Amino acid sequence: MSQLNGKNAVVTGGNSGIGLAIARRFAAEGADVTITGRRQAALDAAVAEIGGQVTAVQGDVTSEADLDRLAAQIQALHGKLDILVVNSGVAEPAALGEIGPEHFDKTFDINVRAALFTVQKLLPLMADGGAIVLVGSIAGFIGTPNYTVYGASKAAIRSFARTWAKELAPRGIRVNTLSPGPIDTPIFDNATDELRETLGKMIPLGRFGRPEEAAAAALFLASDQSSFVTGAELCVDGGLAQG
Ligand code: NAP
Repeated sequence: MSQLNGKNAVVTGGNSGIGLAIARRFAAEGADVTITGRRQAALDAAVAEIGGQVTAVQGDVTSEADLDRLAAQIQALHGKLDILVVNSGVAEPAALGEIGPEHFDKTFDINVRAALFTVQKLLPLMADGGAIVLVGSIAGFIGTPNYTVYGASKAAIRSFARTWAKELAPRGIRVNTLSPGPIDTPIFDNATDELRETLGKMIPLGRFGRPEEAAAAALFLASDQSSFVTGAELCVDGGLAQG
């Protein structure tokens, strides 16, 4: 089945974890996919792995010049954009009382500010009827000890989606939030074994999710299968935040 034939998609942070799985799935569904990320080697590996219809544009989402360059490349390559997945993000722990300004600024810079400016820079290229998927987190609406700043950054993402869904509805552009629970990706490389174990035990389905499971939800939100869904939040969390 090819649900995204003829579509152009951008996946930020498409060289790792959830973004890589989304890029792989979108390409398998017939889309031309452009992936971004700072690490060229990881981008090269992703392109080699996915093959054919994937282009990598190296860049930092917090850099206005890099976003301009991304927009120019999409314009030159395709002239339009149908699907934008704002996925790049960081999740670093810091206990209340030990949160420094650098931690706050880095998290909000990448997860919030860059999300806004990525959408704003690429919006002129978005086709009417397009789809924007913002990758949030269940941490945006449940309390997660030591993730004060991360949780707040993802709550901001959820808010963006609600506002933009209304603002872009006249153009038929749908904006939805995909909110994963714990998914096994490199983002957990810095997490303690204790956190992994605690989370694992709390998840009703009894395990971490796989990146491919988040990608399947992203496909739904990006494709015509969700043509009457906008401003919504789809959680892929094994039930963790739903009780
Ligand atoms: P990951 O494997 O660490 O991927 C993070 C991605 O973001 C990488 O591709 C990274 O690429 C990119 N990135 C980070 N900072 C960037 C910057 N300044 N400029 C450009 N790209 C940048 O983690 P993941 O788990 O797949 O996370 C993807 C998204 O899912 C994040 O928004 C995260 O908050 C969200 N999420 C994940 C989970 C989970 O359990 N895994 C749960 C809820 C939400 P470079 O390092 O090459 O720049």
